Amino acid sequence: MKYLFIAGKWAPAADDGTSQTINPFDATPLDTVAEASAADVDAAVTAAREAFDDGPWRQSTVTDRAALLAKIADLLQRDREQLARTESLDTGKTLNEARADVDDTTAVFRYYAGIAGSHAGRVVDPGRLHVTSRITHEPVGVCALIAPWNYPLLQISWKLAPALAAGNTAVIKPSELTPLSTVALVGLFEEADVPPGVVNLLLGQGATVGQALVAHRGVDLISFTGGLATGEAIMAAAARGVRRVALELGGKNPNIVFDGTDFDTVVDNALTAAFLHSGQVCSAGARLIVQDSLHDSFVAELAARADRIRLGRGLDPETECGPLISAAHRAKVERYISLGQAQGAELLAGGSRPAQPPLAQGFFLRPTVLGGCHRDMTVVREEVFGPVVTVERFSTEDEAIRLGNDTSYGLAGAVWTSDAGQAERVAGALRHGTVWINDYHPYLPQAEWGGFGQSGIGRELGPSGLDEYQEKKHIYHNTSPAPAHWFSG
Ligand code: NAD
Repeated sequence: MKYLFIAGKWAPAADDGTSQTINPFDATPLDTVAEASAADVDAAVTAAREAFDDGPWRQSTVTDRAALLAKIADLLQRDREQLARTESLDTGKTLNEARADVDDTTAVFRYYAGIAGSHAGRVVDPGRLHVTSRITHEPVGVCALIAPWNYPLLQISWKLAPALAAGNTAVIKPSELTPLSTVALVGLFEEADVPPGVVNLLLGQGATVGQALVAHRGVDLISFTGGLATGEAIMAAAARGVRRVALELGGKNPNIVFDGTDFDTVVDNALTAAFLHSGQVCSAGARLIVQDSLHDSFVAELAARADRIRLGRGLDPETECGPLISAAHRAKVERYISLGQAQGAELLAGGSRPAQPPLAQGFFLRPTVLGGCHRDMTVVREEVFGPVVTVERFSTEDEAIRLGNDTSYGLAGAVWTSDAGQAERVAGALRHGTVWINDYHPYLPQAEWGGFGQSGIGRELGPSGLDEYQEKKHIYHNTSPAPAHWFSG
């Protein structure tokens, strides 16, 4: 049984509500989880409010906060195997990917521990005598941090590490589908003696617990990663009371391949771009855009290799792709594949569920390649968030850029070319928050991550990821006050 963590204590829901988390590999129950009530949401926000307004945390130095984050990084590494196993069971992803997630999470805590003290305000030269002027960075207050199910540990940490570095308090809510690694992370904070109320954990459904959390007027800032429709609802909720809001939403990411690059390298990376974590990655290279002269051989090889991807249990070292997160999500992905075919796409690989046991029990879907696609197809325009890659073709550089930008999203994209000038031209022209040249998927804690267009508002990671959690205050000090003489009476 997993509990809520409010004001430094683990507790069941006030009304004893619970739910089950499911192993997507075989649809069996994994654990029982408290399902927070409205009273719990209020208690968590109140605890965070009191810790921010009156608790010892407010008096903490940046050195104290950096030490806490560094301690969490150490504990994450100590528990690396166990955390990776938990994440693999809960999400279905491979153990190797889950280990990489724990390492990336550790790196994020270390990064913000490192820059917390150096990301200070500044002294301003006021250009006049007897005045000093400075900009101070101050925490925003109580932060509601809401994460999705695809990278549970990592996504919450992209928010929690900078929020705490800046001196805020937090109420965190993982996805109801994958809460287990976040519960373990909160356990590490407890072990590291975080003051009561600084980190609070709510568990439960988005439509109830998440909704009540973002509506709570004790919350000063909402940072959300998840789907577009939820992001729109959260932005509307944040408008009431003019609370700060940061959104990391979906993507429809172009992966542009020019002729002349090493064939095997590009095919191999196109598979990783599209099918890592069964394509349930916000920055997945789900939209392949391939130059005419290369197209046919490239697509044939891609489809053949997609067919050979080994599906299985995340904990099995032979597995290359796990299941999708739920039956409902798989059904949604299947609808996109059918719609794509109805609109003229050609099914070149996958498109069906594996029939053999034990895979037939879980939420598996074979890696799917759809050829002959064009931008008017729904499957090309909308985020599918599954193991589906669509292939379009182009002939000129201008056409590639136009296609790559022909999306309402703008999270990430890549260009593959052996021409350095072309690489820079295309990368410069793409309207996406991250552009990879001759690579796909790597990111750095030091480098900003976020979306153009409807992929979101704000940035995570890098110094901007800390800025999100800070108010900037100008302090103007007149050291020799005198009458202003605006009024004569
Ligand atoms: P989702 O929007 O369904 O849920 C995300 C979180 O929001 C969950 O914790 C959920 O419980 C909560 N939630 C749902 N409704 C809510 C509401 N009304 N008020 C408050 N909270 C609510 O998204 P998901 O299906 O969990 O995640 C998949 C989406 O996340 C994809 O669109 C993906 O592209 C996106 N994503 C984006 C990034 C990024 O960096 N931009 C990273 C990972 C995932």
